[in-house]
Amino acid sequence: METGRDLVIAIDGPAASGKSTVAIELARRLGLSLVDSGSMYRAVTLVALEREVPFDAEDPLREVAEWVSANFRMETPVDDAPRVFLADREVTDEIRSSEVGKAVSPVSAVPGVRDEMVRLQRCLGGPGGAVVEGRDIGTAVFPEAPLKVFLEAPADERSCRRFEELRGKGGNATLEEVEAEIAKRDSIDSSREHSPLSRAPDALLIDTSGIGVGDVVDAIISALRERGLIS
Ligand code: C5P
Repeated sequence: METGRDLVIAIDGPAASGKSTVAIELARRLGLSLVDSGSMYRAVTLVALEREVPFDAEDPLREVAEWVSANFRMETPVDDAPRVFLADREVTDEIRSSEVGKAVSPVSAVPGVRDEMVRLQRCLGGPGGAVVEGRDIGTAVFPEAPLKVFLEAPADERSCRRFEELRGKGGNATLEEVEAEIAKRDSIDSSREHSPLSRAPDALLIDTSGIGVGDVVDAIISALRERGLIS
């Protein structure tokens, strides 16, 4: 499949709407790199928790974000899940812990943290093209992206998906706890002042409930073809 040089595809949506799996599969099929912005905010949150930085301490949080920005690395093996590193330390599992899940939205609402992460996302996503996924990619990070996609699914379905995913990894959170965490994150992410989660007016809206990842990726590839962005 031929892709235009520097093609950026922005994928946004609420927690557990299927963004990560769709973005991984799409990047593989198009041979583009993957920029998972949620992992970056999670990495900042992990380091802030470890350094015991309060979540309203703007300057220390910005310093953490600067450090993460300089040390963040993601590997995307062809046959395996992406792996996240801070310098030489692998943090793939730690950034998915429930401690980080509970703290990530308040940390991500801090303007200094966002400024630094957006800078990193633009560096990684610009040259060579990329599939970039998050909450504000089509609205704030790459507002000129030639294809923006917004994935959604009802809250109960998203909670079930996340619950199954956590159970598969040996987690012991209850469905009720997962529902509460997702609802809280969505509420903070959508209502924060600085680049909240929202659908860009020109984004292609896909409801992922009841459809497989392959079908969502096919729909995105068709949209790219229709717009002449790939051949
Ligand atoms: O995508 P994921 O669910 O891993 O994102 C974790 C959190 O990171 C989100 O709930 C949100 O608070 C934050 N985030 C963000 N902006 C992005 C991506 C993620 O604020 N572009």
